[in-house]
Order: sequence, then C-alpha cells, then structure tokens
Amino acid sequence: MKLTELHKIFRESTGVTTDSRNIKENNIFFALKGDNFDGNEYAQEVIANGAKLVVIDNEKFFTDKDKMLLVEDSLQTLQDLAKLHREYIGLPIIALTGSNGKTTTKELIHVVLQQKYNTQATIGNLNNHIGVPLTLLALEEDTDIGIVEMGANHQKEIELLCSIAQPDFGYITNFGRAHLEGFGGFEGVIKGKSELYDYLLDNQKMAFINQDDELQVKKSSGIRQFGFSAKRENENTDVYFNHIEAQPMAAVSVGDIQINSQLTGVYNAVNICAATCIGTFFGINLDDIKQAIENYTPTNNRSQWVDNGSNKILLDAYNANPSSMKAALTNFFQLQYTDKLLILGDMFELGNESGIEHQRIVDLVTENNTPAYFIGKEFYKLCNNDNEKIKFFADFEDLKNYLHDHKIANQTILIKGSRGMQLERALELLT
Ligand code: ATP
Ligand code: MG
Repeated sequence: MKLTELHKIFRESTGVTTDSRNIKENNIFFALKGDNFDGNEYAQEVIANGAKLVVIDNEKFFTDKDKMLLVEDSLQTLQDLAKLHREYIGLPIIALTGSNGKTTTKELIHVVLQQKYNTQATIGNLNNHIGVPLTLLALEEDTDIGIVEMGANHQKEIELLCSIAQPDFGYITNFGRAHLEGFGGFEGVIKGKSELYDYLLDNQKMAFINQDDELQVKKSSGIRQFGFSAKRENENTDVYFNHIEAQPMAAVSVGDIQINSQLTGVYNAVNICAATCIGTFFGINLDDIKQAIENYTPTNNRSQWVDNGSNKILLDAYNANPSSMKAALTNFFQLQYTDKLLILGDMFELGNESGIEHQRIVDLVTENNTPAYFIGKEFYKLCNNDNEKIKFFADFEDLKNYLHDHKIANQTILIKGSRGMQLERALELLT
C-alpha cells in the first residue's frame, strides 16, 4: 500500500494509537516492539476491540488481509505517515528541545499563542521518536500553529525528529548536564541538542534565542533569529526584559508591564521570557501574554507547591539531573523560610560522571548547611559525611521506616529526584 493511501485511511479513522489497551473504535493501531512487549502479538485483540486497521511488521501475526497491513517496519511507517501528515496540514511548527524546562516552556508558549491562534501542542511529555509522530498525527486541519517538544538522550535523535516534524521555528531551552551517559558528556549534549540549530540553518528556518545564554548565541550563529535578553548591553535583542525576579514566584517586566506567575524559581522566569518573546513574535499583545502566563498553574509534580496542612512542600519530583537539581537548590536556598528540609533522590543516566555529580550536589547542600535527606544507591555511596543535618537512605523503604518514627511537621520541603525514584511517594509520609 502506498503511504498516501494509508494517509487517506488515517484521515477517515479516529486517530492512531500504539497502546493496545487504549484502542478506540476505528483507531489505527501501530504494532511497535518495546523492551518488554511486541505490539504484533496484540494485532488480533485490537481488531476485536474495534480497530480500523492494524499496522504490523511480523508476518507470523498476519491473519486478517482486510484489517491488517504488513509492513517492513511499523515504527518507520508511523514516522513516515507523521511526516506526510505534517506536510499535508502545512502549518508552522515550533520545535522545542533542551536539557530542562521543555515541557514547562511548551505549556507556556501554548497558553500564550492560544490568545490569538488555534494551537496544538505535544500532549504531556510525548517527546521521543514515537511521541513526536503521535503529536504530529494529532494535528488537525484547522490548527494554526503546532508546538512540538523534542526530547533526546543520544546523538542524531533530534536530527531524526526534525526530519519528521520539519519545524519552521526552534528554541533550545538550555544546554545542561542531563543524559550525560547517552550523549557522551557535556560536549555531547551541546552537539546533540544543536542538531535543531543545524536543521534550522540548513533549511533557512528561524530560531528563538536567549541572548543571555552564550552557548545559544554561539551555536545559533548564521540562523535567522528573534531573541530576548535581560541585559541592556545585548544589542540585538528583540524583546528586552528590564527586570526579572524569582521570589516568591517568578516574575518578569517588559516595558511597563509586569508579568507575574504561579511558577517558582529563576529558571521559570527564563521560561516565561521565552514564551513572551515567542508570543511577541507572533503578534500577541503584552496584556494578553500577561493574562495567559498569570493564569497558568503547573501540574504534574513540576515545581508545584503543595500545602498538606502539616508541611509546605515544593514538589519537583517529576525529574532531576545535575543542572535542574542545582537550579532547584539555588532557588530553594533563597526562599525566605526558616525551617527548611531537602528530600533529594538519585539522578539517573549519568554514566561514569555519576559519582562526581552526586558528590557536587552533596557538597552544595553541605556548604549551604541545609538539613537534607538523600535517598538512593548513588547518594548512599557518599554517606560518609559528618554533617549532622544530613541523612542518607539506601532506598525509599529506608526513608519510609525512618519517617515512621520521626514525624516531620512545620517544614518547608523541596522534594526532587529522577523519575525512577518516584519521590512523590514521600508526600503521604509527610502529613
Ligand atoms: P523532560 O526531559 O523530562 O521532558 P523537560 O525538559 O520537559 O523534562 P520540565 O518538565 O519542563 O522539563 O521541567 C522539569 C524540571 O526541570 C522542573 O521541575 C525544574 O526543576 C527544572 N527546570 C525547568 N525549567 C528549567 C530551566 N529553564 N533551567 C533549568 N531547570 C529547569
Ligand atoms: Mg518534558
């Protein structure tokens, strides 16, 4: 079957899924292979559950000529179809990548652009080689602008995602110390994320630039750009922020307009600047930008304040890497509260830099003399620490047992760790 034919069937369907448990009447199911499952095995089941078509790549399961399409590689077909659909819809696409803050910035850009346009953005964190195609396949004919988050943990991944999404605009939130293992160190992160700039340059597209970030400026050279800065001396600035503050919540001033937010941390002020800059570029007036940003509240455990009666908790358990950990700690140290406690979990995927990166965090906390509980195997290796305010737990169970006998109350607590640590579980132990 030709791809255009498949696209025709797709347009008559109710959408695409790769999860057999989520199949809806008239969906197209793409049978993908994961580490623990093979979608091909569910081909018959999803047809029984109402699938319009099932795309499979294992002949063994090809039992239904009418409802099954046997291809060489289902993932490749999904990506090709997404690319074709993106071309068919033909709208401007903004791609976002970077080490930290992609989802938050994406959400902010989305609410800002919605003031004037019909926008569609990546749902949640569907930002990889499967998520990006699914995001593109969700684009509708009346969508004005698409906002696509692109995640990566190794080289050439952003290049692939760009070849599928073909963005007209790009923004890299920052280059940080995340996924060091897969990228091959910090230089590797810079190279890998810059694949977005490479695409924009080669295709004469445009970049949004934080001109206060030297790496962004350096790496984007030659690309048509629209930038923001909070430094007067940055001459090429299109949107200039005359004031940025982080406490108690991130706020920025542009001209005589102050934009407040419900987001914590100076790192979120940067995310707000980016969304404001992009909104300005697309002709949205500052009053509308202000309103959109001020109404936005974070969810999903990303720098979210939770008051559980007993403690005031800054829940940032969604994820962690050395850069975001440092950003969150710096912010937390500056908070004007007296009784503060850190509950910090291991940072994953750091390869042979893991030891030193965990050590840096412990040092930072020790220097600041803030009480802290460190949880996880990597932190536990550093438990030879004589600072009495610091405790180490080999795993979550240990912390749980300890908190059972040592109740915590009236504290301001930052909870942060890698996704795999699932530190949001600590919430119920703190009531
Ligand atoms: P992922 O790679 O998991 O998709 P992401 O890049 O989408 O992450 P967010 O989910 O927006 O990032 O934010 C995750 C955490 O990163 C936040 O809770 C916060 O601690 C931190 N963070 C957010 N923005 C920034 C930023 N601009 N610079 C540094 N850290 C940030
Ligand atoms: Mg994300």
